Amino acid sequence: MLTNKQMEKFAELAVRVGANMQKDQEVVIRCDVQCADFAHLIAQKAYEFGAKFVHMEWLDEKLDRINMLNASKEALSDIPNYRTALWNYFIERKCCLISISAGDPNKYKGCDADKLSAYEIAFNIARNAFRQATMSNYLRWTIVSIPTPAWAQQIFPDDTAEAATDKLWNAIGHIMRLDQDDPTAAWRKHINTLVSRAEYMTNHNFEYIRMKNAAGTDLSVGLATDHVWIAAEEEGQDGIRFTANMPTEEVFTAPHNRKINGKVVNALPLVNNGNVIDNFSITFKDGKVTDFTAETGYEALKGLLESDEGVLSLGEIALIGKESPIAESGILFYNTLFDENASCHLAFGASYPTTVKNGNNMTAEQLAQHGMNQSIQHVDFMVGTKDIDIDGIGYDGKVTPLFRNGEWVI
Ligand code: ZN
Ligand code: ZN
Repeated sequence: MLTNKQMEKFAELAVRVGANMQKDQEVVIRCDVQCADFAHLIAQKAYEFGAKFVHMEWLDEKLDRINMLNASKEALSDIPNYRTALWNYFIERKCCLISISAGDPNKYKGCDADKLSAYEIAFNIARNAFRQATMSNYLRWTIVSIPTPAWAQQIFPDDTAEAATDKLWNAIGHIMRLDQDDPTAAWRKHINTLVSRAEYMTNHNFEYIRMKNAAGTDLSVGLATDHVWIAAEEEGQDGIRFTANMPTEEVFTAPHNRKINGKVVNALPLVNNGNVIDNFSITFKDGKVTDFTAETGYEALKGLLESDEGVLSLGEIALIGKESPIAESGILFYNTLFDENASCHLAFGASYPTTVKNGNNMTAEQLAQHGMNQSIQHVDFMVGTKDIDIDGIGYDGKVTPLFRNGEWVI
């Protein structure tokens, strides 16, 4: 368990390093009702640093499950207008967004996959403008995570709810550097290291990234024309920097959605909407999925890959060394925010316009010309094993080793 002081430092990180809230700004906290205490602490901190007003978007995953089990597909797909109106209001007010992600990975376990994907498609369409406002950095945003008993017990199934929650708090406290004297200063230093790696990658302007390991991954990922590698810190459209994911260990950019070839095998389970998909492989030709297999969660993977046309290509390639504190913890978190920072990953679906030069000022057509992928989905899956070798290949064919045995060599 963290001390009160550490909890306050955590809330401060979310406000100052994460969303980098400015004085007189309105803030939206997106939070499950189970995590209300931490949301209130963040609200308090936000006011201490000059917030104008704090809005809460309460989530309720227990109700979500009850609805998924009992409501019809039609009712679930009918996303109420007031929700879209609320999201539009947040855009209008240029709020910054702090999401507390603390989901039960089994939230939709055993629910009808067809209903679930119908709901997910409708929800993503209704929320599209808001999602674009965050993905294009029109709004500054951040995600942090805290334990809930259900989540903790999924990770530590042999412990009581209380003991499991305690263990998870300890792990998160270490990963979030809350056990250091000055977590905010520790984060600034960490962010600088990642940012200089991203600059190295952008300056090399590789045409392809090639990944290979013993599990059977042999994949060549072309990079979007004029791509930019991003790490830790991004720039909002208003020029103010922020850190979208906390924790973050990744250096990432956009693949070229017509230049991906080969096969990739997952390194960690993919948890999508509470469904676990594992031991799967995906084959690409000229940027599109042409074949896939899955020993666990085949139907869920199939449902995901049927969402739209764009989900069949990739919107992100992210590199993370095996010495990151999350990877070193050896814990499978069943939570993308953590697991994606434990391992190199790819994402099915949309790319971030910010990962191509001047991307925020481009039309959808211009982005497409650069090979930027578009989709209503963006789902990360982990591919970085401890033995993975990764090379950057230049437009002149020159090969630059980037990873050997799962760790950066630059
Ligand atoms: Zn990522
Ligand atoms: Zn991603």
